[in-house]
Amino acid sequence: MIREIVIWPDPILKKTASPVDRVDDGIRRLLDDMAETMYAADGVGLAAPQIAELSRAIVIDTSPRQEGQKLIHLVNPEIVRAEGVSTYTEGCLSIPGEAEEVERAAKVWVRALDYHGKLFELECEGLLAIAVQHENDHLQGVVFVDHLSSLKREIIRRRMKKLKADHAAETAEEIRRAPGHESAL
Ligand SMILES: [Zn+2]
Repeated sequence: MIREIVIWPDPILKKTASPVDRVDDGIRRLLDDMAETMYAADGVGLAAPQIAELSRAIVIDTSPRQEGQKLIHLVNPEIVRAEGVSTYTEGCLSIPGEAEEVERAAKVWVRALDYHGKLFELECEGLLAIAVQHENDHLQGVVFVDHLSSLKREIIRRRMKKLKADHAAETAEEIRRAPGHESAL
């Protein structure tokens, strides 16, 4: 099921997600929803807090931009090692239309549970390394604009507030135009 993506700024995106006790059908359903939502929004990664679920779960698929990669599920991820420095122009499904350069480790090793609850370790480079760090940040209540200067962050915050206000106005207009509204008191 495609879920609604929480748009920054929103208090839920500042919260720390809780570890998953057991990878069961409920978590797999969440991971499926996350993957579906990510693909529908044309993203390469999504963390559970972005659909208002405070669980330590991430999906990533960098395949449109990185050869040899496919859908990866990371439950209770932990970055166990990081190396080098890399700068990449990042975007976020929770901050639509914005992209800024962020400096991160060039290579990371992440340990997590997979879709079946099996522990695995993955060596990540390129966009995959960036995505793992970006999504892992979401689980700590951190978004990419938190890595920018406060000036840049405030400009983006203002644009997002305007976007949300425009969207709310459109929705109100749609409700007004909907047939039968007159009787809906
Ligand atoms: Zn994001």
